[in-house]
Amino acid sequence: MTARTGRHFLQIPGPTNVPDQVLRAMSAPTIDHRGPEFAALTLRLLEAIKPVFGTSGPVVIYPASGTGAWEAALVNTLSPGDRVLAFETGHFATLWREMAGSLGLEVDRDFVPGDWRHGADPDVLAERLAADTAREIKAVCVVHNETSTAVTSRIADIRRAMDEAGHPALLLVDTISSLGSIDYRHDEWGVDVTVAGSQKGLMLPPGLSFNAVSSKALEASRTARLPRSFWDWQPIIEANKKGSFSYTPATNLLYGLEEALRLLDAEGLPEVYARHARHAAATRAAVRGWGLEVLCLDEREHSGSLTAVLMPEGHDADEVRKIILERFDMSLGAGLGKLAGRVFRIGHLGSFNDLTLAGTLAGVQMGLELAGVPIKKDGLGDALDLLRTE
Ligand SMILES: *Cc1c(COP(=O)(O)O)cnc(C)c1O
Repeated sequence: MTARTGRHFLQIPGPTNVPDQVLRAMSAPTIDHRGPEFAALTLRLLEAIKPVFGTSGPVVIYPASGTGAWEAALVNTLSPGDRVLAFETGHFATLWREMAGSLGLEVDRDFVPGDWRHGADPDVLAERLAADTAREIKAVCVVHNETSTAVTSRIADIRRAMDEAGHPALLLVDTISSLGSIDYRHDEWGVDVTVAGSQKGLMLPPGLSFNAVSSKALEASRTARLPRSFWDWQPIIEANKKGSFSYTPATNLLYGLEEALRLLDAEGLPEVYARHARHAAATRAAVRGWGLEVLCLDEREHSGSLTAVLMPEGHDADEVRKIILERFDMSLGAGLGKLAGRVFRIGHLGSFNDLTLAGTLAGVQMGLELAGVPIKKDGLGDALDLLRTE
């Protein structure tokens, strides 16, 4: 292993690069989580986090990865045997559905298969809900930004389909790789539980996750019968009122969260979303310039936070990633599940700017060339043209 100089390029779609300001905030001394200073921090944080979700309701914070918040969303709102409608948008949607099954929910009857190149289809949802005349489907689960495919589902259209069907099911949405990087509106889109994590758009290390909770979901939690203890919203929301938690919170990650929220607020959320959309468009320009294919097939559904690149027949995406890591000290996302070896994923979310993107795409272009993948040479130039002019 040769000595490394400069900064590693962490261009996987999470964990993402943690800004120096956030790392510094986290290095402050750990304090008494039952003392007045910490209570004040908690109360500030619980308010400051709401705009990122687009909610005025409660946000529950867990010292856990996103997977924990998936479980929390299910066990707080549903009862054994409840029917859950889930779309097969990719690897993460599949894992969440499997978790629901293992918790004792009925996930096979209302399964909507997919090709891993499209988001959740509002028309299919409308048909399924119309057919459920007895109103037995209790929840609809959608992954907003499917990190395995770089396809973003249209949550506002999903909500419209549910409203038009007049169906009372809860809408549960995973925003683990979109919150803080792609426009999202928990209240306006009538989402009942929004699931999020710290290590992607929020620019923190892994270790925190979130549930934003609608009043309808909170109401459902009063009668939901799936077993829960640690994940139970009620004691946490109760303790939060006084700035405390019903468990020992992740003190230093919360310091980092306050700083990350300050950074997002200083840039402005609309500007943050526009920056991500612009970098995503420049990345697609590069991919198309190389003559390669972006995995997402619907122009309305391209992810703002990452891009999945399909390899030409006979070429291994993991070989390209290996060369790029060894030669240029950059990590890219691997193909997950049935996409293993067939795609690599470029993360362009979180703490990121034009020149980080230019460096990232230069590394990808050189890696493709070194791996002998046939490309047209002008992909990076196309991305730079877009960055220069817009
Ligand atoms: C990363 C990710 C997860 C898994 O979250 P963990 O923090 O790894 O538990 C779930 N869903 C999506 C969409 C993700 O991107």
